[in-house]
Amino acid sequence: MGSPVTIFRLFRHQPCGRELLVRVKRPAASNADQGALDAADRIADAAAEHLRDQWEQRHLQDLCAHPHTSGVVAEMQEVPVGDDLFGPGRPSLALWVAQTEYGAPWAVLGTAATEAEFWQEVRLDDDLVGLGPSAPAELRHVHFLTDEDAPTVHGAA
Ligand SMILES: [Zn+2]
Repeated sequence: MGSPVTIFRLFRHQPCGRELLVRVKRPAASNADQGALDAADRIADAAAEHLRDQWEQRHLQDLCAHPHTSGVVAEMQEVPVGDDLFGPGRPSLALWVAQTEYGAPWAVLGTAATEAEFWQEVRLDDDLVGLGPSAPAELRHVHFLTDEDAPTVHGAA
């Protein structure tokens, strides 16, 4: 069996540019079984879509009355920099985003007080270095939700 994978996915909403980061678990699946892998992907995708839908309905529509379209602008399936991304969701999180040599949406994400600190942590992690992240990292202010948050958090301002 492959291990469960933690997925971070950053959605950007247009036209206002508001961003939502979600953390979901992709269940363990055998690497030899493509059907099981696809099913695990669908479970993770559905969890991410659910968080996004809830956020749009309970939070975003109160902030902006206009209709929104959203797309995935960054994704990471490795362990990110900083402890904040393993904690509970929160309405405001300062997130560093670095593009990688795998192209969009694959990114290295993390929290750190400064960009220099972010890169210092990235360089200590062979898995992150292996993604080929490129400077500069961009600082984004995002709303963060996880599949482990209580439902009330999803609507918190
Ligand atoms: Zn808006």
